[in-house]
Parts: sequence; structure tokens; C-alpha cells
Amino acid sequence: MAGGWWLVVAGTLTRSEQETEALARELAGTLQAGDVVLLSGDLGAGKTTFVRGLAQGLGIDPADVSSPTFTLLHEYRGGRLTLYHADLYRLDQTATDDLGLEETGVRDGVLAIEWPDRLSHELAGAKLVRLEVVNDASRRITIGPAEAGPYDRR
Ligand code: ADP
Ligand code: MG
Repeated sequence: MAGGWWLVVAGTLTRSEQETEALARELAGTLQAGDVVLLSGDLGAGKTTFVRGLAQGLGIDPADVSSPTFTLLHEYRGGRLTLYHADLYRLDQTATDDLGLEETGVRDGVLAIEWPDRLSHELAGAKLVRLEVVNDASRRITIGPAEAGPYDRR
């Protein structure tokens, strides 16, 4: 695969919401149309915060980004690429079959998915951002190809 996005980080400790956003901005700079970013981690780990940083990095107003818990798919425009943001928390795996998420990202933008363990099948070539709570203000964030290893199924 072209590019070196997997070299961006391998396990970074962020000590604030702002540092997590800054890390996401860095990743955003490497993204291309059609890219899929999977965000795994517990409630409150910082998945939505990370998406806010992706928006910033793409030149989208981060205030547009909310937790789309009740809206399955949000769409943020006005940046270098359109950012699609899905939160699958409330879905079970069978419900994700017909979402057409694969088709969504490839057209003109980047697709960020919270709770990717709800997906019924893998999305080819996706990047996985794994966020782990270290303590109140710190998170360990690991970014890599989704194929590199199983992420927590929870
Ligand atoms: P999720 O989408 O994973 O449920 P959110 O991004 O909505 O999580 O919330 C993360 C919460 O954790 C926010 O209240 C944020 O202020 C807090 N937080 C504390 N430290 C960090 C950090 N280092 N990175 C990201 N969020 C953090
Ligand atoms: Mg969230």
C-alpha cells in the first residue's frame, strides 16, 4: 500500500483531550478518499474526541462533530474530504449487514466508525485506532492496519 500512515504511531500516550485531537489531526493529514478508520475502545475512551480531531485535520469545523448515538451516520462537509461518522453502539451485528457502509466511504470521503466490533464483516484496508483508558486524563492510542490483529470484541 502506498504511503506510510502506519508509521505515524504505535502506541501513543495522550494526556488530555487536546492531545488526542492533535494525534487525530496528524492521522487526518495522511487520509485519502475511500479510507476507513475504525475506532475501538470503551465508552468514554475518546473515540468521538478522536473524530473531532480528524475533522480539524481535514479542515472541517470540529463543532459539527457530535456523538451520533441516535443518528447512525453523520456527514461533515467543507473540508479537504467529506467525513462520514458512524456510531454502531446500538446495533447488533445482523443489523449492520444492510448499511452499505463500505460504499459510503469510497466515494468522496473518509469513513470513521465507532464500535466497529458491531460490523458483521471486515472492511478491507481499514485503519484501526484503538483507544485505551489509562486514567482520568490519559489514553493509550494505537494506530495500525485493522488486519494486524484482533481488536477487543466488546
Ligand atoms: P467515546 O466516543 O469513546 O465514548 P468521548 O470522546 O465521547 O468518548 O469522550 C471522551 C471523554 O474522556 C471526554 O469527556 C474527554 O474530555 C475525556 N478525556 C480525558 N482525557 C482524554 C484524553 N487523553 N483523550 C481523549 N479524551 C479524554
Ligand atoms: Mg462516542
